[in-house]
Amino acid sequence: MIIELTKEQKMLQKEMQRFCKKELTPEYVAWMDENVNFPPQELWDKFNEIGYFRASIPEEYGGDGLSWVDLMLIQEPVFKASMSVGMAMGVNHAFGGPFIKHLGTEEQKREFLPKFAEGKLKTCMALTEPGGGTDILGALSTYAVEKDDRWVINGEKVFITGAHVADYMVVICKTEENESPSKSLSIFIVPAKSDGITISKIPKISCHHCDSVGITFKDVEIPKKNILGARGKGWYQLIDVLNPERIAVALMGIGLMQAIYDECLAYVKQRHAFGGPISRFQILQKYLADMAINIENARNLTYKAAWLCDHGRPYHVETNMAKVVAAEGAMNAAVYGAEIFGGYGICMEYPIQRYVRDTFQIQFSPISNEMARNVIMQFQGLPKSWS
Ligand SMILES: Cc1cc2nc3c(=O)[nH]c(=O)nc-3n(C[C@H](O)[C@H](O)[C@H](O)COP(=O)(O)OP(=O)(O)OC[C@H]3O[C@@H](n4cnc5c(N)ncnc54)[C@H](O)[C@@H]3O)c2cc1C
Repeated sequence: MIIELTKEQKMLQKEMQRFCKKELTPEYVAWMDENVNFPPQELWDKFNEIGYFRASIPEEYGGDGLSWVDLMLIQEPVFKASMSVGMAMGVNHAFGGPFIKHLGTEEQKREFLPKFAEGKLKTCMALTEPGGGTDILGALSTYAVEKDDRWVINGEKVFITGAHVADYMVVICKTEENESPSKSLSIFIVPAKSDGITISKIPKISCHHCDSVGITFKDVEIPKKNILGARGKGWYQLIDVLNPERIAVALMGIGLMQAIYDECLAYVKQRHAFGGPISRFQILQKYLADMAINIENARNLTYKAAWLCDHGRPYHVETNMAKVVAAEGAMNAAVYGAEIFGGYGICMEYPIQRYVRDTFQIQFSPISNEMARNVIMQFQGLPKSWS
């Protein structure tokens, strides 16, 4: 399947590549990785100036209403320059905007979407809990209980990207005590500064300049109107909204692979050993050729999944395939890329060590490669292994 980009799409892609080259220099990214837990506000503002946060918001709410293929074109260069920045700037595209767009009442849409489009709000999505992320339906124990005109939330979430800087959280809670797990969830908009919310840092090796943190909810009260979508239907609504997220994760893998490939190709030409460039060694060429094959493969699959999603066709199998191919391709590229760099592969002076660290994250988040394979086979009629 070949997706021909239009002239406008090629321009969009070029402009974003130019922006990333200028604003996300290797030195600045290395500085952020050492010094901040979220990209500085001035970088956020620069993304806002070029309309990055408007991109996925529907036109009637002040956005550009771009398709998933368009979003791929603007997100890939960011992930290539820095996976942390890609995640930090992409949370609104993946979570905030889509949850409100698909599930919100007209009043909620009018309240939140224009502010997302203007880059005025930061958000996060709090689903995963300490009891397990893969089988979240079996593990989820954060409760929201009705009390007079309010919901009262108690529980704990882990690994929530961007929660430490968010203005609003999209929080998934249990609301129905006597229903089966899939009929017991509801989704809420929770102001991040509400009394009873505590944020805790989770030190990790990957994506240093975009923290994913723990959240404790202790008797957190929110207005009744802050429920998103239908009460008790949260599980099915969640799946619908989160499916395209895998396209974005595949893009992270593609961005990482492309960054590693470009670094390694330049390095093998410039580095000399035993009287010549190391590019003449066949085994290193094999490593590079495998990277090139995986990039091509992952990009084709991901564009196909994005195109199917944009055209309202089933895309679940393709999007899970894209996630696996991109994540495993990135892991391969990181390991062999570090090998190509020899001792310098683990030195902080070179970005290869960051690619190695960042690559681990997409092997299991938001869905592990094992579970993505399980979903692919579920669509072939084999039994699923989770609740
Ligand atoms: C950096 C980072 C950012 C994240 N951001 C967010 C966020 O913003 N919001 C959010 O809600 N969550 C977020 N997550 C959570 C992420 O979605 C979970 O880590 C993921 O779902 C895996 O859950 P787990 O870590 O609890 O692993 P577990 O569920 O404990 O899984 C451990 C291993 O067991 C395997 N396994 C489990 N069950 C099965 C099965 N049935 N069949 C086959 N294999 C199985 C898994 O594949 C995995 O290899 C983030 C995680 C990280 C690390």
